[in-house]
Amino acid sequence: MWSYQHPGFTVHQLPALRDNYIYLIEADSNNTLIAVDPAEAVSVHQACRHMGKPLTHIFNTHHHWDHTDGNLSLKKDFGCLIVGAEGDAARIPGIDITVTEASPPALAGLDISVLDVPGHTNGHIAYIINDALFCGDTLFGAGCGRLFEGTAAQMWNSLNKIAELDGNTKIYCAHEYTLANLAYASAIDANNPALTARIVADKNRRKQDQPTIPSSIDMEKATNPFLRPLDSYFCRNYAAAHNISSEPLSIFSDIRSRKDRW
Ligand SMILES: [Zn+2]
Repeated sequence: MWSYQHPGFTVHQLPALRDNYIYLIEADSNNTLIAVDPAEAVSVHQACRHMGKPLTHIFNTHHHWDHTDGNLSLKKDFGCLIVGAEGDAARIPGIDITVTEASPPALAGLDISVLDVPGHTNGHIAYIINDALFCGDTLFGAGCGRLFEGTAAQMWNSLNKIAELDGNTKIYCAHEYTLANLAYASAIDANNPALTARIVADKNRRKQDQPTIPSSIDMEKATNPFLRPLDSYFCRNYAAAHNISSEPLSIFSDIRSRKDRW
């Protein structure tokens, strides 16, 4: 378990299943303890025991089983409240509180906002608390989620919302996919020195069994191939090399569909 201090709360990062991360958000000022996307219950139980605190809430970003499988067991044992997207209420096990961008969860001591970020699934949301973003399977280290339900245009719009956050915002995504994503990134953005430096740094982290997550908005804008279409110079070069329109959505769509075939 790794822990990161933010103003007013601490984020604890638990590895789960093969390559998932579950996050525990521990408020400084009260007993609020939130599990984000509990892929399973056992590691959350262990962490709660270790901290000597019961779980008070579960925040789900979307309905996939590897984000919600711990819901019912944790609710049964802790009586915690389950929070998820209004649009996904029918698919989130045990949901108690539905939220949207316009009606985020209200919890004492934490200033929480919600972004609607459809693309990976239709009801996908992200939670922002101060300088921490919990974005599930929307944005990954050097990658983005597959388009299981939404369109490329929806995902591009969702990624743009995320890219507008402060550059220092920490990105707590739900999977450790970074090295595989970086291999793809270097195939399409080979002349990017920031990307080359990131590959060295993140390979070293993994060699030492350290996570590459959290990342940051600035790091993703500089190196993530799915955010690089925000850079007009990158778009011009990519469009010329692949003989497509230099419009950012066209570039994003092309990079996303190539990844599916890669
Ligand atoms: Zn998913």
